[in-house]
Amino acid sequence: MATHLVWFRSDLRVSDNLALAAACRDPGAKVIVLFIATPEQWRQHDMSPRQAEFLWQHLRLLQTSLAERGIALFIKQVADFTASIEYLKGFCASQNVDALFYNYQYEINERERDAAVEKILGRDVICQGFDDSVLLPPGSVTTGNHEMYKVFTPFSKAFIKRLQEGLPECVSAPHSRGEPLVIKEPAPFDYPGEKVDTALFPVGERAAIAKLREFCLRPAVDYAEQRDFPAIEGTSRLSPYLALGVISPRQCLHRLLKEHPQAIEGGEGATWLNELIWREFYRHLLVAWPKLCRFRPFIPWTDKVRWHQDKERLEAWQKGKTGFPIVDAAMRQLNATGWMHNRLRMVVASFLVKDLLIDWRAGERYFMSQLIDGDLAANNGGWQWAASTGTDAAPYFRIFNPTTQGERFDAEGAFIRHWLPELKAVPGKYIHSPWIWADKQQQTLDYPRPIVDHKQARIATLAAYEAARKPE
Ligand code: FAD
Repeated sequence: MATHLVWFRSDLRVSDNLALAAACRDPGAKVIVLFIATPEQWRQHDMSPRQAEFLWQHLRLLQTSLAERGIALFIKQVADFTASIEYLKGFCASQNVDALFYNYQYEINERERDAAVEKILGRDVICQGFDDSVLLPPGSVTTGNHEMYKVFTPFSKAFIKRLQEGLPECVSAPHSRGEPLVIKEPAPFDYPGEKVDTALFPVGERAAIAKLREFCLRPAVDYAEQRDFPAIEGTSRLSPYLALGVISPRQCLHRLLKEHPQAIEGGEGATWLNELIWREFYRHLLVAWPKLCRFRPFIPWTDKVRWHQDKERLEAWQKGKTGFPIVDAAMRQLNATGWMHNRLRMVVASFLVKDLLIDWRAGERYFMSQLIDGDLAANNGGWQWAASTGTDAAPYFRIFNPTTQGERFDAEGAFIRHWLPELKAVPGKYIHSPWIWADKQQQTLDYPRPIVDHKQARIATLAAYEAARKPE
């Protein structure tokens, strides 16, 4: 009997899992599943303890749901990718594996690891990879010159055209392949864990699908109108599931089109579809420009910006103590929940880079160390966008004013008051500049004064970018 091995990585679901479905296609084959945890690798890449905990919880459920189908999931912990290659080789030999199925990961280290695995397994094991975590494979949406787009809007147009020609299909969860198996709870990872707020992010594939359905049932117009206001739960909050592959982008697309078929023609629901395409864009970019995975800016001259090495200010930003209420409330949301609203990710990233003139890579790393939805492609894309170092970058002279951003997107200060209880008493008029109120009242607030003057910081940042841009 043939033995098929499915190597799970960031595709922790049984439904619409291309590698799992392909492995199960032959009814006569024995199917086994392996997950290899690499805590040392996670440490090097700042995986957040919350995301590690979320991963472990999903692995537990995945093990149960596979066991109900008679499929065994083996979990192994090794240090890093090198050790995982060795382990996989031994595992294939000991289990007499004929064929290995896996879903591609697009980060450069992961791609190099997979290439090494294919090489080491040689002819003994047939390896099959699948473009599962994307709607369309990287490299398949290109300009007339067969190059990857450097700007989002034309990419998005070409992408939608491809979808209009034919949608990527979802595949079903595998049927039962034998008697249900008895399983033992997996050992915790050798990695710090941090409690996940399961009211915000309930664990499991079913919970994720329920969240998706509920979100798509809402009038699409609500998303378009509400998605920029952090005090409203206006977005799907599906990113932690998409990051670990607990749901697939195809499931998102099909559910969206079921409720809002006109989304693909630019009608209701198109705004959310556009966000899913941003996710694709950044994944496709990683494959076209692997240097992005190695913390290189897309625009080379931006590497010459002379960043400030200011540990104190970096810490103030991390802790949500900059004196700019919208920035601080956002950072506290991140630290407390592992998630931050998209508008605020842009605001705090702009603040770190353009107000404090701190290297965007410090922010990128800090985000990864906190986010429950940490995803190299989206995080790097977001940071390079904010820092104006990336593709499709806002020109470097476009700098968010943190106070007016707060006034526009949290006008009443509801979000700020939720995360900064020390500002509860400050009247609405002063919520975005509480120090003015404190001075007027001759009160001392348990809240810092702004750590920079935005106008002066703006001038200094423009000068630093201009100096870096000058030819030598
Ligand atoms: P929704 O608005 O409901 O969007 C649906 C899905 O589309 C999201 O779950 C996400 O998978 C995708 N998406 C939405 N916006 C973007 C975007 N701008 N770029 C890429 N994908 C997008 N997203 C991550 O998943 N992981 C990250 O590590 C991450 N880091 C970011 C860092 C910065 C500086 C910025 C500006 C953005 C970052 N984003 C990241 C993108 C975005 O902020 C989140 O995907 C979004 O806030 C998640 O909330 P949601 O699921 O409610 O999104």
